[in-house]
Amino acid sequence: MKLKIGHLYPDVLEVYSDRGNVTVLQKRAEWRGIDVQVDRIGIGDDVNLAEYDLLFAGGGEDREQMRAAEDLLRKRDALLKAVASGTVVLAICGSYQLLGRYFETVNGHRIEGVGLLDLYTIGGRRRLTGNVVGKLTIFDFECTVVGYENHSGRTYLGSGAAPLATVVSGHGNNGEDGWEGVAQGTVFGTYLHGPVLAKNPLLADHLLRLALKRRTDRPHLPPLDDEWEWTAHERLVRRVAHMEAA
Ligand code: GLN
Repeated sequence: MKLKIGHLYPDVLEVYSDRGNVTVLQKRAEWRGIDVQVDRIGIGDDVNLAEYDLLFAGGGEDREQMRAAEDLLRKRDALLKAVASGTVVLAICGSYQLLGRYFETVNGHRIEGVGLLDLYTIGGRRRLTGNVVGKLTIFDFECTVVGYENHSGRTYLGSGAAPLATVVSGHGNNGEDGWEGVAQGTVFGTYLHGPVLAKNPLLADHLLRLALKRRTDRPHLPPLDDEWEWTAHERLVRRVAHMEAA
């Protein structure tokens, strides 16, 4: 069995080492004896996105986002087809915004999104930055998610989209409604850098399990020794709690 991961725009959308998320997914699969192929997909590349079990894209400055957005619009049909076939998508910050209807930047440019997700984004003068702690909505047990955010865009979810997490500390999607990210079927968007999956192993395995479902009915992911991952996770939870109390 081989898991195919497509990394969209690795040269253009790459802030805060977002590519580390691909490494985390690859390693967590390989440690369970699953072969992984990672393909870089750049601007102008004509690929069948439905071949991929998981597509990843990182964040970027507004200007870089514009370049990626033009290409993503050309790949729109291929992306919709892939998602319809069960491909998992993880999009961080700038690329998360591009999966929605549009992003109106702080300078008044309107970047068209692919409209895969029921959301839109408006840029604000004050950037929303700092550590984030949230509670994931995707499990039937309580689990925190941690990361770091830095965005001018305020994202608002429509009724067709549900948040990935509720904000315990930090700004999340817009600093107003207490929501962070989006989880819509197999499509996930988040403002969290970090790289987010390094400190949130349950989220990483959730994505892997969904992606493997395209290959096998009952994906089996034996537990890993995640002591370092949880240590980093809990350290951030404690640091945030400590700063709030100060
Ligand atoms: N340029 C976008 C914003 O500022 C995304 C930033 C990012 O990906 N970190 O909102």
